[in-house]
Amino acid sequence: MEFKIAVIKGDGIGPEIAEQGIAALNRIAEVYGHRFHYEYVPAGGAAIDEYGDPLPDFALEKCKQSDAVLLAAVGGEKWDDLPVTQRPERGLLRLRGELELFANLRPAIIYNELKDACPLKDEIVGDHLDIMVIRELTGDVYFGEKGGDDTRMYDVMNYSDYEVERIARVAFDLARGRSGRVMSVDKANVLATSKLWRNVVTKTAQEYPDIELSHMYVDNAAMQLVRNPRQFDVILTGNIFGDILSDEASMITGSIGMLPSASLGASKLGMYEPIHGSAPDIAGKGLANPIAMILSCAMMLRYSFDLEREADAIENAVKAVIASGARTADIAGGGSFISTDEMGKKIIDAIK
Ligand code: NAD
Repeated sequence: MEFKIAVIKGDGIGPEIAEQGIAALNRIAEVYGHRFHYEYVPAGGAAIDEYGDPLPDFALEKCKQSDAVLLAAVGGEKWDDLPVTQRPERGLLRLRGELELFANLRPAIIYNELKDACPLKDEIVGDHLDIMVIRELTGDVYFGEKGGDDTRMYDVMNYSDYEVERIARVAFDLARGRSGRVMSVDKANVLATSKLWRNVVTKTAQEYPDIELSHMYVDNAAMQLVRNPRQFDVILTGNIFGDILSDEASMITGSIGMLPSASLGASKLGMYEPIHGSAPDIAGKGLANPIAMILSCAMMLRYSFDLEREADAIENAVKAVIASGARTADIAGGGSFISTDEMGKKIIDAIK
């Protein structure tokens, strides 16, 4: 099959890890007989330097015309003093909005061999932890009316039924390929938007009799994630609760350089990126872990291209390389480690 991929290398470690992601995709193309066409698109700090805009219109157009967008990371000190509306991250927000990417998927996985990196006790984590947080991305208090004066400010929290229904469907469809369990997280004991959320999620679930749906209040969910994370499989939640819970879930894995994410909309065109930033402190030193980037490519194969076997091949290669003891500095726990390129090469060689 043939696909067009818009690639944003971005800033800091972005170009280094993007290179490894592309190399993994090229290996998949070779082994499975596909063709991937890459369109390199400027965004973030690099685009501000060259075009004075974190997402020039032509870059947005190129993303819209591709089958998927692969983003490494943007941002850095150099652009920190710019007004909020002109900063590198603004380019990403605009891209998500313009592509109407309303569903953010963040897997939080603990690999058995890396359990030492997890801040929780062994008996809490068990042998394996694999949680998928599905966060609504384009509604809620982040997008409601804002206003006020010097003494009082407000941000309006709102959700419409159709927004809740479409994200619930993403969660139920996805849960079908996993354990079939979905935990919807809200604050329905206090918030009107959460009452609507719970009603719509419950009603939508009637069309998915094979799905086991439960509900939990967000304060309890935050506690349960560190008390007994293994009770969760798919967590479905709104924008602000998802922002906080997905960071909490990813941090219990203890390895920011390992975790990918996907942002999806109504069409197959999605955006795939590591959860970490541009890590300016280690840029250009060969210290960046390319695994989050490579696993983001696997998510792209699965969700935008329906290439499940190929996505599995990348994920299995990562597992095999971790099991073999290969480590980049961030996951070496002070022991010996290999470079970004060496880690990338090992994974590529392990793709079957
Ligand atoms: P960061 O995620 O870039 O770095 C946090 C820490 O984790 C640093 O010590 C870094 O060295 C380490 N780290 C991150 N990724 C790593 C990897 N792949 N391998 C090894 N170590 C890794 O967060 P930050 O330092 O708060 O932000 C740096 C810049 O990135 C800022 O300009 C911020 O705005 C931007 N940022 C961008 C995105 C994005 O592009 N989506 C997300 C978050 C932050």
